Amino acid sequence: MSEPSIFTRIYQGEIPSEILAETEHAFAIRDIAPQAPVHLLVIPKTAQYRDVVELAAGDPALLAEMVALARTLAEEHANGQFRLVFNTGAAAGQTVFHVHAHVLAGDLDEGNLG
Ligand code: 5GP
Repeated sequence: MSEPSIFTRIYQGEIPSEILAETEHAFAIRDIAPQAPVHLLVIPKTAQYRDVVELAAGDPALLAEMVALARTLAEEHANGQFRLVFNTGAAAGQTVFHVHAHVLAGDLDEGNLG
């Protein structure tokens, strides 16, 4: 068995981080190093999928559930409009290989990709 991901450890309460919202299969936290006025992460509760390509192929309903949660968060934390970023692969900036969506909102600078 590989080590649990940082996000699994957060969801299980081993690493403190406020759970802002959750659905049946996903949860949301604030990014520890925000790149925008609102920078949240939407994360499946299990680490089964490494990235959004695997997730879309394996469980498109969970991907849709994550998008819906992102929208709810953007309505609560911003004006309902948001940027959704899935870094996919180390060369693209992915550092945690437990798929997650960056939800970026609030006065975004042009070109800010999180
Ligand atoms: P990635 O680079 O894989 O797309 O995104 C991983 C994100 O997780 C980064 O934006 C990073 O700031 C965030 N992150 C890493 N460790 C922690 C942590 O312990 N708590 C929280 N809230 N965010 C974290």
